[in-house]
Amino acid sequence: MMTVSDAIERLLATVPAPPVSEQVPLAMALHRVLAEDVHSTVAVPPRDNSAVDGYAVRYAELMATAGPLPVSQRVPAGSRPPPLTPGTAARIFTGATVPEGADTVIMQEDSVVDDDGIRVSSPEAITAGAHIRRRGQDVALGSRVLAAGTRLSPRHIGLLGSVGLAQLPVFRRLRVAVLSTGDELVEPGEPTHDGQIYNSNRYLLCALLSQAGFEPVDMGRVEDRLDVTHAALCRAADAADLVLTTGGVSVGEEDHVRAAVTLSGTLDLWRVAIKPGKPFALGEVAGTPFMGLPGNPSAVLVTFMIMVLPWLRAAQGVAPPWHLGESRLRAGFALDRPGRRQEYLRVQVERDADGEYLRLHPNQSSGMLSSACWAHGLAVVPAGATVVEGEPLTFLRFED
Ligand code: AMP
Ligand code: MG
Repeated sequence: MMTVSDAIERLLATVPAPPVSEQVPLAMALHRVLAEDVHSTVAVPPRDNSAVDGYAVRYAELMATAGPLPVSQRVPAGSRPPPLTPGTAARIFTGATVPEGADTVIMQEDSVVDDDGIRVSSPEAITAGAHIRRRGQDVALGSRVLAAGTRLSPRHIGLLGSVGLAQLPVFRRLRVAVLSTGDELVEPGEPTHDGQIYNSNRYLLCALLSQAGFEPVDMGRVEDRLDVTHAALCRAADAADLVLTTGGVSVGEEDHVRAAVTLSGTLDLWRVAIKPGKPFALGEVAGTPFMGLPGNPSAVLVTFMIMVLPWLRAAQGVAPPWHLGESRLRAGFALDRPGRRQEYLRVQVERDADGEYLRLHPNQSSGMLSSACWAHGLAVVPAGATVVEGEPLTFLRFED
């Protein structure tokens, strides 16, 4: 058996060059991946501006005079003020440009105003340069705002808006064909007879792909026949950047995926030391990368998250790291029989007086999805290891 880390390393060694880039409007760019570095053509903020409602002054003048400074102008946000007249103050509002000559803003709450002008209640509390947001303090003119390979989150979208970008260069979204093999499968909404089950992998995988920012190409259900499987694989290879199948990849005589792939391509069948999900096929169909996942839904979930997703992120042009975010949390359970495969256990995060810990679902069957819905994520137990209650385990949180 191949270790999980070897399998991931070998998968990543097959990642092709990223797809071509295209321009998308800022409002459509969520979860897309930047194809180029983005530099700012503006400074943010564009001018020194006031962080508060108050009065803009020359600090030295304020300190030198015992009397009030007359108010010579009013500066609302969005206006272009003339320079500050010597010996005066400017009424100013949050976000408004500080007039040339002023170097300090007095907060409204720290000032005393009458018909003669403004004074400060406690001059010793005023510091030179206070309450001014400096030009370029967020983004300097010409600086690199974001690097190529950034997967755009809502925060990135906001930052790109702040530098005035309406269109962004992003990689074309990868298309991933999803084929569900199995004569026992019936689509939701259809009647079933004895021995049939509903197709869940199809919907699970398409949803996982959409959530991760890829474009699923739903190829539907494929009969357990060599010619039908081969034809479906060829159509999928034509339509997508990666072909994913579920089921039919084992060694039973109803498993036709391996033979069908080799009719128009090549294939390696791996026995990966991962639980759930031992059989995993990697290859190509007519030049398009191919991955064959197991049939059991929780094995599909785990092999997708651990093996397929890092490959897809790399192929999409995302900058590393490509694996899921990990944390370490205390085991709230014990396992005294070491397994031969690295195990991904469905767990919930609970809290007690000592902080967070992991609670194990009693049923870890690879055919079950209800425990995956109960779970907040997966706890990782390495091959050959046991778990002592209270020891820290690697935890992968589901990203929804
Ligand atoms: P297989 O590898 O084709 O023998 O499938 C392994 C197990 O996964 C069998 O119990 C199948 O019925 C089940 N299975 C395969 N494909 C699906 C699917 N699309 N949805 C739900 N269960 C499936
Ligand atoms: Mg099958």
